[in-house]
Amino acid sequence: HAKASGRNTHRFFAEAMNAEAVAHLSIRGGLRRALERGEFLIHYQPQVNLDSGMVFGAEALIRWNHPERGMIPPGAFIPIAEDSGLIVPIGDWVLREACRQAAQWQAAGLPLTVAVNLSARQLQRPDLARTVTDALTDSGLDPLFLELELTESMLIQNTDAVLENIRRVKALGVQLSIDDFGTGYSNLSYIGRLAVDKLKIDRSFIMDLCRNHDSARITAAVIQMAHSLNLTAVAEGVEDAETLEQLRQLRCDVAQGYFLGRPGPAEAVERAARQANPFHIGA
Ligand code: C2E
Ligand code: MG
Ligand code: MG
Ligand code: MG
Repeated sequence: HAKASGRNTHRFFAEAMNAEAVAHLSIRGGLRRALERGEFLIHYQPQVNLDSGMVFGAEALIRWNHPERGMIPPGAFIPIAEDSGLIVPIGDWVLREACRQAAQWQAAGLPLTVAVNLSARQLQRPDLARTVTDALTDSGLDPLFLELELTESMLIQNTDAVLENIRRVKALGVQLSIDDFGTGYSNLSYIGRLAVDKLKIDRSFIMDLCRNHDSARITAAVIQMAHSLNLTAVAEGVEDAETLEQLRQLRCDVAQGYFLGRPGPAEAVERAARQANPFHIGA
């Protein structure tokens, strides 16, 4: 009896692993076709200035609109794209598309910044600065309105190639931010050495800011550190009014989160950006 159930368990695991491997393979095979067939799209999430209440920019977040499976979130395919190297052409597409959108906003009288997530593979490529330059030139976007998001973990391998890339893209005049700040790397010396502009405090600290003293103290300390280094403090994952108010009291500069707008079509950001203080911040 025990033996039979052990065999069943084994078969169950084998089938489950197989299903996962098959899903993985079909995603990998689908990614290249998706790029060719134009199945990727970008959703934009508004970023709000906490002094003025104005929308000043948006983060570009990729989605895959799969013909059979519907909308696939980036967590389900970005890691596979990174493993296979396809993140390089996919990331290039995101960069170009986001720059095109931001240039269109400028042309419509909306000076919005667009923030694009880079992956480790892109940061290691010797042609990164060229790729960014081409995206800016072809779209006509002023570099000031492009922000590139890096994560702390990408800086752990701070090889000469990575440091040189960061210097070169920074020299183009784009802004740099550290995403998911507080979850990666404990050695903070890189912040002074790399010319970063913003720290994006990870959602895990913001989500329980009003209930957890440790999260509140860490958030306060990161905001202070950012300011003493002349950096902009950004809070990600703001889901309610209470958290937003607490962040204002902590003098956080910028917020982003479901409470201020879920990622969505560019038009939604545009509508909010046309209003004076769409979220009635401090009013
Ligand atoms: P991220 O860059 O940290 O982006 C923030 C994620 O948090 C997004 O998930 C966003 O939808 C989600 N989020 C924003 N506000 C809230 C909130 O109030 N509550 C909760 N629960 N979640 C919130 P998304 O779009 O699924 O993206 C996940 C990750 O995928 C991103 O994390 C980023 O690391 C990666 N990613 C997205 N687009 C790209 C891309 O074009 N290239 C690369 N390399 N990575 C990307
Ligand atoms: Mg990001
Ligand atoms: Mg983040
Ligand atoms: Mg995150």
